[in-house]
Amino acid sequence: MPEYKAPLRDIKFVMNELLNSEQHYANLEGAEDATPDMVDAIIQEGAKFCEQVLSPLNQVGDQEGCTWSEDGVKTPTGFKEAYQQYVEGGWPSMTADPNYGGQGLPHSIGLVVSEMVGTCNWSWGMYPGLSHGATNTIEAHGTEEQKQTYLTKLISGEWTGTMCLTEPHCGSDLGTLRTKAEPNADGTYSITGTKIFISAGEHDMAENIVHIVLARLPGAPEGTKGISLFIVPKQLPNEDGSAGERNAVSCGSLEHKMGIHGNATCVMNFDGAKGWLIGPENKGLNCMFTFMNTARIGTAIQGLGAAELGFQGSLAYAKERLAMRSLSGPKNPDGIADPIIVHPDVRRMLLTQKVVAEGARALIYLAGQQVDVVHSGKTEEERKHADALLGFLTPIAKAFLTEIGYESANLGMQVFGGHGFIAEWGMEQNVRDSRIGMIYEGTTGIQALDLLGRKVLMTQGEALKVFTKQVHVFCKENADNEQLKEFIEPLAAINKEWGDLTMKVGMTAMKNREEVGAAAVDYLMYSGYAVFAYLWARMAKVALDKMAEGTSEEMFYNAKVQSARFYFKRLLPRTKTHAETMLAGADSLLDMPEEAFVI
Ligand SMILES: Cc1cc2nc3c(=O)[nH]c(=O)nc-3n(C[C@H](O)[C@H](O)[C@H](O)COP(=O)(O)OP(=O)(O)OC[C@H]3O[C@@H](n4cnc5c(N)ncnc54)[C@H](O)[C@@H]3O)c2cc1C
Repeated sequence: MPEYKAPLRDIKFVMNELLNSEQHYANLEGAEDATPDMVDAIIQEGAKFCEQVLSPLNQVGDQEGCTWSEDGVKTPTGFKEAYQQYVEGGWPSMTADPNYGGQGLPHSIGLVVSEMVGTCNWSWGMYPGLSHGATNTIEAHGTEEQKQTYLTKLISGEWTGTMCLTEPHCGSDLGTLRTKAEPNADGTYSITGTKIFISAGEHDMAENIVHIVLARLPGAPEGTKGISLFIVPKQLPNEDGSAGERNAVSCGSLEHKMGIHGNATCVMNFDGAKGWLIGPENKGLNCMFTFMNTARIGTAIQGLGAAELGFQGSLAYAKERLAMRSLSGPKNPDGIADPIIVHPDVRRMLLTQKVVAEGARALIYLAGQQVDVVHSGKTEEERKHADALLGFLTPIAKAFLTEIGYESANLGMQVFGGHGFIAEWGMEQNVRDSRIGMIYEGTTGIQALDLLGRKVLMTQGEALKVFTKQVHVFCKENADNEQLKEFIEPLAAINKEWGDLTMKVGMTAMKNREEVGAAAVDYLMYSGYAVFAYLWARMAKVALDKMAEGTSEEMFYNAKVQSARFYFKRLLPRTKTHAETMLAGADSLLDMPEEAFVI
C-alpha cells in the first residue's frame, strides 16, 4: 500500500503562486482569519492527520469493509477512533457558519483538506464529506429552529449527515421518485419509502445521523416539480438538543460492492419516519442542488485523489523496479538491469498521472475560489460572475476529473506490472475505489447533458464565454512571450475551436435535439482538456517567471514546464478525436432499430 505523503509543495504552488490565495482571501468579506500563516498551519496539521491517522486505515477499510447486524452497522477497525480525533481537532467546523459553531474559514481551504483526506482514504472521507453537504443544505435552506437543532450538531461533528435521493427504480431520473411525505397535525411529516445506495446511511461513528431526504407531498405535481426536501433524523432530537427516541428509519442491508468497502452503502427504509420540511414545498430538487453541487466538487476530488495516489505509489516503484535496459544504453550499468523509469512508456504512464493530479488540483482550487466568492464576494457583480463560472466548471470538474482520474489509477496499477494486480500494493484498490466516481453524483453522461444542454446551449453560450474570455485575455497578454509560445499558440487555437464547435453542435441541435445527447460526452471531455490546457499554460508561465527571477527550486519549476510540455504534446491532442466524434451526428447511434440489438 503506498504510504501517502501530502504533496505540500504542489498544494502551495497552486494556492499561492498560481491562484494568489493571499490576495483572494484579502478580497473576501469576513475572511480576515485566513492569513497566510493560519492557512499554512491548517494545511500542515491536516497533512499530519492524513499521513499518520487516515492513510494507515485505507487498506484496513478495504479488507474489513462494513458489517451489518440488527443493532446497526459497524465500520472498519479504527474508523470510529479516527473520526473522534477529527471531531476533537475541530475539522468539521472549519468552513461552517460561526453563528452555529463554525469557524467561518473560506470553503477553498476546506477543499485542500478534503483533497488530502480523500486521497489517502476516500472511504473514510465520505462520512464527513456527506455531513458537509448536509450542513450546506441546512445552512442555505433551513429555518432558524432547524439550524439551531441540526446545524450545530453537524458542525460540531457530533452528528453526521446523508443525502437520500436514489430509489430502486431511479437515480438519474429523480422526477419519478416515489417516497411519500404525509403531513401530520403537528406540522411534521411521515416519510415512507425506500432509498438505496445511501452512503454513510448507517454507521457507528457518531451518535446521530441527519438524513436529507427527497419525497413527494400528497397531490404534488408529477415529475421534478413535485419533489420536496425533508430532514429525517435517525434519533429524534430532545428538547435540550440531545439525540432522543429512535425514529422509524433503519438500514435494511448493506450493498456488496466493487470498491470503497470502508464506506457503508445502505438500503434505507423509511417506515412513517418523522420528518421536517426544509425549504418550500415542491422546490426540493432546487434546494437539493445545494447539496449536489457541494458533492459534485467533492467527487471531482476523487479523480484528483486517484491520480495522486496512483502517482505516488507507481513513482516509488518505477525508481526501484529493474527490468531490461534503456534503448539508448544502460543507465544503471552496475545493476542487473535499469530501473523501469528509464523506459519511455513507463514515463508516459507516470507523467499522465502527474499532469492529471496537478491539473486537477489547479482546477479544483480554482473552482474552490469561485465557491468562496459566491459566498463572500464583496460585490453583487463579483458574486454573479463567480456563480456563472462555478456552474460551468462543476460538471467538467466532476465528470472529466473522475474519468481521467480513473484512467490514471489504472496507469498507476500498470506501472507495477503483475504486482499491480496483487492486493498488497494497494494499486488495484485505487482502481476499484475510484471507479464509482464516474457513476454517483450524476454519471458522466448526465454531467455532460448538464454542461452542453443546460449550461452552454440554454444560455446561448454565455457560460462558455465567461471562461473563454479569460483564456483569450491570457493568450493576448502573453502573445509576445517567446518562451510561452509552445503553449499559447495551441491554447489560443483550442479556445477558438471550442467556440466554433459549440456553434456547430448548437446548429445541428436546433434541427434535431438528439444531437445534444449524441455530442454531450465528447463535448464535456473536449472541454476538460481545453480547461486543462489553460491551467497548464498558466502553470508553465508561473514556473518560467520564477526561473527568470532566479530560484533555488530550479528542479521543481523546470519539472512544471516539462509537465506542461508533456500535457500539450501528448494529452491535448485527444481533443482532435473528441472534436471529430462530437460532430459525427446522432445517426450512427440512433439509426439501428431497437429490435436489431440482439444477442
Ligand atoms: C457506492 C454508491 C454510493 C452512492 N451514494 C449515494 C448517496 O449517498 N445518495 C444517493 O441518493 N445516491 C447514491 N448513489 C446512487 C447514484 O447517485 C446513482 O446510482 C447514480 O446517480 C445513477 O443512477 P442509477 O443507478 O439509477 O442509474 P440510471 O439512472 O438507471 O442510469 C443508467 C445508465 O443510463 C444513463 N442514463 C440515464 N438517463 C440518461 C439520459 N437522459 N441520457 C443519457 N444517459 C442516461 C446513465 O448515465 C447510466 O449510464 C450511490 C451509488 C453507489 C453505487
